[in-house]
Formats: sequence, C-alpha cells, structure tokens
Amino acid sequence: MASVLDRETAAQEKFLQHGGKLFIDDKWVDAASGETLDVFNPATGEVIAKVAAGGAEDIDRAVKAARRAFESGAWSRITPSERGRLLWKVADLLERDADEFARIESIDNGKPYSIARAGDVMLAIDMFRYMAGWATKVMGSTTQLSLGFEHHSYTLREPVGVVGQIIPWNFPLLMAAWKVAPALAAGCAVILKVAEQTPLTGLKMGELFQEAGFPEGAINIISGFGETAGAAIAAHPGIDKVAFTGSTEVGKMIVQAATGNLKKVTLELGGKSPAIVFGDADLDAAGEGAASAIFYNQGQVCTAGSRLFVHKSAFDRVMADVADRAGKIKVGPGLNADSDMGPLVSDEQLSRVLGYVESGRSQGAEIVIGGSRLGDRGYFVHPTVITNTNRDMNIVREEIFGPVVVAEPFGDDDLDKIAAIANDTDYGLAASVWTRDISKAHRMARKIRSGTVWINCHNVYDAALPFGGYKQSGWGREMGEYAIQNYTEVKAVTVKL
Ligand code: NAP
Ligand code: MG
Repeated sequence: MASVLDRETAAQEKFLQHGGKLFIDDKWVDAASGETLDVFNPATGEVIAKVAAGGAEDIDRAVKAARRAFESGAWSRITPSERGRLLWKVADLLERDADEFARIESIDNGKPYSIARAGDVMLAIDMFRYMAGWATKVMGSTTQLSLGFEHHSYTLREPVGVVGQIIPWNFPLLMAAWKVAPALAAGCAVILKVAEQTPLTGLKMGELFQEAGFPEGAINIISGFGETAGAAIAAHPGIDKVAFTGSTEVGKMIVQAATGNLKKVTLELGGKSPAIVFGDADLDAAGEGAASAIFYNQGQVCTAGSRLFVHKSAFDRVMADVADRAGKIKVGPGLNADSDMGPLVSDEQLSRVLGYVESGRSQGAEIVIGGSRLGDRGYFVHPTVITNTNRDMNIVREEIFGPVVVAEPFGDDDLDKIAAIANDTDYGLAASVWTRDISKAHRMARKIRSGTVWINCHNVYDAALPFGGYKQSGWGREMGEYAIQNYTEVKAVTVKL
C-alpha cells in the first residue's frame, strides 16, 4: 500500500505546482477575486488541495477568450482534420497519463483507483477518439425543392459558437470528456466549469490541451461554485449554448437563467431508474446485475438501478442474493487495492443519503441490510437494501444518489401494468429488463419511457450511443452523432439558378 500512496503524493505535488489555477486563454491564472476553495479527500475528510474559486469576472474573461478564438477563426476555421488530430492527441496524452489521472480521481472523488483507471479514464480516452473521428464528418445535405427547378438548395452544419458546460462530481474526468470532446469536434469554443467537490482531473486536463497545442481560448476550464461561476455561465449573454449535467433542481434554474439571450440548452439530469427482473431471467446474472446497478460508483450514478422490481416467484431469491452481495462489498479508501467501493463524495452527500434512509425507516420501510455510516472518518456508508416500501415514500420517488436500493415484488404478468409501475416516476433516464424471453425484452424496451433501456445488463455506456433523458431527466442527447447535432446549427442555403 505504501508504494501506491507514495506515487500518489508525488503525482499530486507535481500537478499542484501550478497552484490549482484557472485555465483561461491558454494560461494558468488566479481567480480575479483571489479566492480559493478547499478540495477534500472524501476517504479522510482532509483538505488535499486549494483551487481557484472562479466567479463571474473569470467567466467573462473566459467568454472573451473563447469568443476571440471563435470569431477570429483561430479555432473555428482550422480544418476539420486538424481538429480531429488535436482531439486524438488529447486521447493519446490521456492514455500516457492514465495512471496519474486515475489516482487523482480516486483521492478527489473517492472511487476505487482500479475502477477510475479501467472505467472513467478509459471511457474518457474513448470519447476523445470517437469525437476526433466526427470532426471530419460534420456535413449538410442537398434537397430537391417542391418549389420547382429554378433554385438549388443545400444545408450547412456550423458550430453553434461559444459553449458553456457545467458538470457534476460523480464522474469528474468522464463528464468533462463527454462535454468538451463533441463541442470541440464540432468547432465550438468551450468554457467548462468543473464541480466544486472534484475539480482536479478537469483542471489537469487543461495541461493536456496545452501540450496538444490547442489555439488560445478554444478551451477554458474554470473551477468555482455553482451559485457564482455556474450561474454566470447560464446567464452570460456572450454564450450561445449551455450544456449541463447535475440535479433536476439546478437544471430548471439553468433553463430560467438561459432565457436572457435564449441560449440553446441541453440538460442531463437525475434519474430513478428501474431494474425489472422477470421470473424467467437468469437469476444469478440478474442478482449480480441488480447489485452492481445500484452499488457501482457508490450509487452516485444518474442511471443507478435504484428501484428494483422482481417478479414474486423470484423475489426472495433475488433479494437474498443482492443483500448477500451488498454485505460482501469491501468498502474502504479508493487507493486501497482491495476496496470495491469508496466513500461518498462529501459530508453533505453522506448526510443526504443517511437522511433518506432514516426517512424510509421512520415511514415503515424495512432495512434488509446496511443503512448506516461506516466508521467515523471519511464519508463511508454500508451498501443498503430496503424493502416494504410504498410508492409515496420519498425514498421511492426521489433520487438518493447513494448505494441505496428500494425493492418491490410484482405479481402481474401484464407487461403494460409492469411498465406502468416502472414508469411511475418524474424521471426517465434509464431502465434495465432482465428476462430470457426475447420478445418480452423487446416489448418492454418499447413500453419504458426512458432514454436508455438495457436488456440483461445495466450501466453499459459507449461513446457511439446517444445518452439522455425523457421527462424530467433532461433535454437532448449526448454522445454519438446526436452530440454533434447538439453543438451545431443547421443553415439552409438557397440559390436562384
Ligand atoms: P448540482 O448542484 O446540480 O451540481 C451540478 C453542477 O451544477 C455543479 O458544477 C454545480 O456547482 C453547478 N451548479 C450548482 N448550482 C448552480 C446554479 N445555480 N447555476 C449554475 N450551476 C450550478 O448537483 P450536486 O450538488 O453536485 O448534487 C446534488 C444532486 O444532483 C445529487 O444528489 C443528484 O441527485 C444530482 N446529480 C446528478 C448527476 C447526474 O449525472 N445526472 C450528477 C451529480 C449529481 P457546485 O460544484 O458548486 O455544486
Ligand atoms: Mg452542489
């Protein structure tokens, strides 16, 4: 263990040499106010770094830099193949520094190093490579007009302009990659605000953009609080589009703030995703899948399988299996090689999760396993399984964003009725269906109102697949070609022949 920690400290010191500054116009600068914010290691509660607390003035500086990069053509008029090459270069640099990024992610966010390395960092690399390919494939079309043959028309897809992006703390590097890669591929100039709890890997990514040789102002990275830096992005008249990932509550504030200049808005918000296990499923796979659907990343996943529905014929068996798996998960610091699960991200999140468990308990729900804090240092909780709930309880309706699953049996075999239970939520981000019956699986996929449906799996992501929510889980889609559409405007050009 000592060796991992030693290497970690060295990497941390090296990175913090530039002092946790803001990355604006290709330079590392302090916040205009001179203020900083503390960054905590959630495994210990100790302060591990101080980074600049950017505010409205810094956002304004970044917008001016981005606007210059965009309007001057320094960024927007470099060739598509050059944009693609730069994005591919970032992927290569990230791959070179993958261990270091994973270690920093682990101490900043809490997640196990091995998971950060194999999951977050690898998926971020993939996102840059995938979007590097799109840079040369942004195209319009020609159209035959009903008007007659005296006109020739075609469409152009052009970058939407200067884009502000706001990301949460659950997958800091990966969310940064999901946001900046498609925007840059489309030719937009970017201002990214990283989360106050987890600013380190996002800021560190700035070093890679510098090394890759991006033009000044094409990409700017700001640490700071949501109420100041985030709100300044949402309201700024010089920003053409805002892309946000986080809570539904803040998403609604972004929409309101964006009305000033009617900037385009895309939102990836919360979820309360169902995992639906039929009696004919491979029950071992379903038990394992249902457990990892909720416990992966300490349950701090917008698509977490937080509502588990199991056919009554299999309920006891699947519940016993999920509870058994919950009890065996090794919870500990992310840098310990044998930790399966790390701490929650913050003191605030710990209180929030335990508060939900308490509210369920006081309303008569049964805590099958877990339900309490682990130790008194750091923000660890026991993986928790709850049953005997009813659908009015807060723990069933609201996003807990922790390793807490509520489970309920269903007796019906009518797919519409089962889908109605699964759809009984304000959210619509994702769902999983577990069955060996291929038609039942596909029928259910159509009946569920969510942006993603997984069959016999959960939390499977790919840069090529569109990701986003129905209902109050958001607006628009990220990843795949849909992300490129979200960062471009369509122009119709008509010529009189
Ligand atoms: P949040 O408050 O929605 O934060 C997400 C991002 O928005 C952060 O960068 C945040 O800044 C920023 N922000 C906060 N208030 C803002 C405002 N008024 N204007 C503009 N930006 C603002 O989420 P959170 O506090 O991190 O977590 C609360 C809940 O959000 C979670 O428990 C969970 O339900 C949900 N969540 C969802 C996702 C997802 O992927 N869908 C991810 C994380 C959290 P700060 O860093 O200063 O807060
Ligand atoms: Mg917050």
